[in-house]
Amino acid sequence: DLTLRLTGLTKSYNSGKPNEVKVLQGVSLDVKPGEVVALVAPSGAGKSTLLHIAGLLDTPDAGSVAIEGTDMTNLPDRKRTAIRRSTVGFIYQFHHLLPEFSALENIVLPQLANGVSAKAAEERAMALLDKVGIAARAGHRPAALSGGEQQRVAFCRALANEPALLLADEPTGNLDPDTSDKVFDALMSLVRDTGLAAVIATHNLELAGRMDRQVRLNGGVLEA
Ligand code: ADP
Ligand code: ADP
Repeated sequence: DLTLRLTGLTKSYNSGKPNEVKVLQGVSLDVKPGEVVALVAPSGAGKSTLLHIAGLLDTPDAGSVAIEGTDMTNLPDRKRTAIRRSTVGFIYQFHHLLPEFSALENIVLPQLANGVSAKAAEERAMALLDKVGIAARAGHRPAALSGGEQQRVAFCRALANEPALLLADEPTGNLDPDTSDKVFDALMSLVRDTGLAAVIATHNLELAGRMDRQVRLNGGVLEA
């Protein structure tokens, strides 16, 4: 089965009004298990809209999203939310960590919500922090971490519940170039280690070149 299949997605904002914006005009994309796809798009091209639809946070006007062979189109919201929480990991440009909790706790909490025992959740969180090279920072709150460290924690949190699909929107876009390079390497080794399928949006063509293949979002459609 494909991890992600997007078929003929269309999406407009303000449909039928003078200020209508046609963002997606027939977007299709297949992502195989373990495949890492770079999504390259100029600002405003609709990359966030596309990632939100692929990750079940938004619905298309037409077309379909299937994750691991299950078509999401006609599922009730409740079911779709449950599948999103257990199957999809998100990473944004900004970390969105909970400020009052430690790095470790930020990775543990989503696992507890998913029914994992506290002991198993902590072990997994520590193993993930170790993989991205910041196990020593486990007890620090986000404000005590550098930007690069905060993003590494956000990566661990996104993978805490072992999703099949990772969606990342400019995951290193907020970091200076040197840090961005290193943090991106940490992300790629996490992804390769877990065998995840991923769609990673980036403006950075050098980073895009390190992924398995690139697609470009242009004029509402994807080009190889
Ligand atoms: P990107 O992530 O590539 O910058 P977005 O998906 O955020 O692009 O937005 C694509 C286009 O849709 C932009 O022109 C943006 O202004 C517009 N847009 C995004 N969200 C909304 C919304 N909720 N209402 C109206 N227009 C929107
Ligand atoms: P719901 O209550 O609809 O089941 P969540 O509580 O998981 O959804 O998320 C509420 C909203 O927060 C989502 O609709 C989405 O816009 C945003 N969101 C979901 N996951 C994340 C995340 N990992 N990071 C930042 N924002 C998120």
